[in-house]
Amino acid sequence: ASFEDFKLNRQLLNAIAEAGYQTPTEVQQKAITPILAGQDVMGIAQTGTGKTAAFVLPILMTLKYAQGQDPRALILSPTRELAMQIEENIQTFSKYLDLRTVVLYGGLGPKVQKEKLAQGCDIIVATPGRFLELYLEGEINTKSLKFLVMDEADKMMDMGFIGKIHRILEVVPRKRQNLLFSATMSELVRKIAGDFLAFPTVIEV
Ligand code: AMP
Repeated sequence: ASFEDFKLNRQLLNAIAEAGYQTPTEVQQKAITPILAGQDVMGIAQTGTGKTAAFVLPILMTLKYAQGQDPRALILSPTRELAMQIEENIQTFSKYLDLRTVVLYGGLGPKVQKEKLAQGCDIIVATPGRFLELYLEGEINTKSLKFLVMDEADKMMDMGFIGKIHRILEVVPRKRQNLLFSATMSELVRKIAGDFLAFPTVIEV
């Protein structure tokens, strides 16, 4: 298998090659095609399997160019560290694309994050609490969201984010593509997956 087998454009394939990725990992082989086809996906995959690129690449391919003021993808992460890692992956692969990403997390004042949002963005990577806070302050318009991603869903549940996730699900468009990744499958993850995903393709690695 090769990255060339996927329907990814030359800009992405060049960035992937320059990152030193030669062959797609198992989760990438199984997830990229259904995500590009517009399906909801639930991936059971640990950190280290290449799950980040598995969802980032098809999202970048679908969004392609900067467009308008409002985000079209929202990627939720349980921690600031993971949010920053996801953002690094996005920067690596979007090197030859024209896309704007904003990362939102707590633990520091919201001023700089608000200024970035005001400039317009295509992708938001956020922890649930800070996302909601800025949304409720009117800093984010969710009407253009096409992708909603929940990474490390098991950790989200362990950290008690279920209420915030439900609140976020109430303020995003009904029609959207949903991706959920989790290292483990617990009762709570199954529940949030049920609230979140529509007829998902399930991938286990
Ligand atoms: P992740 O599971 O997304 O945290 O990725 C784990 C590590 O594997 C990261 O350092 C990635 O840059 C790297 N990685 C992901 N996919 C590939 C690939 N297809 N080839 C080589 N390295 C990869």
